[in-house]
Amino acid sequence: MPIRLELGPRDLAAGTTLMSRRLGYQQPDAAKEAIPLDAAPDLLAAELAAFQAMLARRAADFRDDHTAVVDSWPEFAAVAVGWALALHCGGQACEGEIKAETTATPRCVPLAGEPEQGTCIRCGRASAYGKRVIFARAY
Ligand SMILES: [Zn+2]
Repeated sequence: MPIRLELGPRDLAAGTTLMSRRLGYQQPDAAKEAIPLDAAPDLLAAELAAFQAMLARRAADFRDDHTAVVDSWPEFAAVAVGWALALHCGGQACEGEIKAETTATPRCVPLAGEPEQGTCIRCGRASAYGKRVIFARAY
């Protein structure tokens, strides 16, 4: 529940409601605001859009803070938490070795990102996808 509206008899008589935002505010008082009832639909739409943007930005920051670009097998094997961007040959046997040793598996080839050629992080054969692959550990 990102936003709660409080409607009491006095609020209704005054034509207002107390809007409480759940996330994104350090001070609890800053998260509460009396708003006119007739403006609530437009204000709620704007608040929900801002809330969605804040969640997306927070998730992207978390992803970026926990993604390592790795160029060697020791670096890859040392990535303990999060994601690794690495070149891969696309071979299933190679993928199986990576999974057996680290529990990591390829998750996707990101649409964004620069084209890149090189050698597979594990076996040294030519990379197959023209860019780095996102790997993550299974839990
Ligand atoms: Zn390989």
